[in-house]
Amino acid sequence: MKTLLMKFGGSSIGITPGITQLLSIVLHESSRWDQLILVVSALDGITDQLIEASQFALMSNSRGYRRIVATVRTRHMSLISDLPFGVNERSALQTDIDRILFDLHDACQQLSEATERRNTNQIIDRITGSGERLTARIIAALLRQNHMRAVALDATDLIVTDDISGSATPLLPLTQVRIDERLKPLLNRSIIPVITGFIAATPTGTPTTLGRGGSDYTASIIAACVDAAEVWMYADVDGVMSADPKEMPEAQVIPFLSYEEVAEMAFYGARILHARMVAPLRDRHIPLRVKNIFRPALHGTVIDDRIPQPGLKGVTVIEGLALTAPRSGSLMALGSFVEEAFSRETGGRLEVMITAQSATRSLVCFVVPTYIGPDAQHLLQAALAPSLAQIDDGIVWSMEAVGIV
Ligand code: ASP
Ligand code: MG
Repeated sequence: MKTLLMKFGGSSIGITPGITQLLSIVLHESSRWDQLILVVSALDGITDQLIEASQFALMSNSRGYRRIVATVRTRHMSLISDLPFGVNERSALQTDIDRILFDLHDACQQLSEATERRNTNQIIDRITGSGERLTARIIAALLRQNHMRAVALDATDLIVTDDISGSATPLLPLTQVRIDERLKPLLNRSIIPVITGFIAATPTGTPTTLGRGGSDYTASIIAACVDAAEVWMYADVDGVMSADPKEMPEAQVIPFLSYEEVAEMAFYGARILHARMVAPLRDRHIPLRVKNIFRPALHGTVIDDRIPQPGLKGVTVIEGLALTAPRSGSLMALGSFVEEAFSRETGGRLEVMITAQSATRSLVCFVVPTYIGPDAQHLLQAALAPSLAQIDDGIVWSMEAVGIV
């Protein structure tokens, strides 16, 4: 059995022409593979809006979150009205969408009334994961409209994680059991599952999310559990680029990379894929291809267990925080101290990327992982400031935002 898993990112399906491309790609590939699985992200920008909605809810600003729920609704309804659905199919889909939006509104309301911090984190994950649930419904309905057997599946029923809200880690043995029980029977009946990226749940069913950009991770976990032959990730660029094309227009596609090389690029700031997604594919030797949804005939980038060839592959930039002090001293204590502040604030782990010391100056750079989201840097800065001021070894540390190239 040859199974292809295709993951469609938010930038690839955020506009109607992207969804039309998706349809023609799935039609084409369905005749070439025994089994197809789709993993989909939220439409471009939707997760950011949902995070904003949860911030409004936390401030009990019901007008704020209602406005966002209404904007999210308009965006999806107008996408549905652009797509060629029959009258009955369209209205059934609209009902599904409204059910998810009702749940979203309900979660926002619960959040605005919640008092315990632990509960609030769980509700935030329910809110931020709504975008993926919406796209999965729309895409599954579109495939059915085009005579394919497709069902939308929420990954909360498939991927089991620990309970670290916002950046949970999958528990593979439990996930494997769920996938064997709930996903494989569908595949054996030649049904195309359209699975939500990004979201998961604890063993007891509390919703979690896998961190920003986590749909990639969903794709690789599912691919590993079904032993897929290949994973193709669709974006709106031609593949993994030698630099961020928004910063450097002369950036080029890198045709081949090893798992190690791409993991390192992702870790050091290449946004094209989630750094944690590489390991499950590498362990099972499943090749990964990154392709442009608008130019599907292009080769894209192929990532597999080739031996890395020497030479410069690409340039990445990642945001971090530098701590500097005007004289030398032990940096050991500082490292654990920053890590502790970070995990307290975000529940995630932080990597010390560069430490340097000269006779007159100390420098420690920490990379703030891209999956934590745009305000991670501020969060860390705020968490560290009071504790840094308390170190009384006579060294005055100062803090500045840096980009590490
Ligand atoms: N929608 C989520 C995000 O924006 C997950 C993803 O797109 O991979 O982070
Ligand atoms: Mg992504």
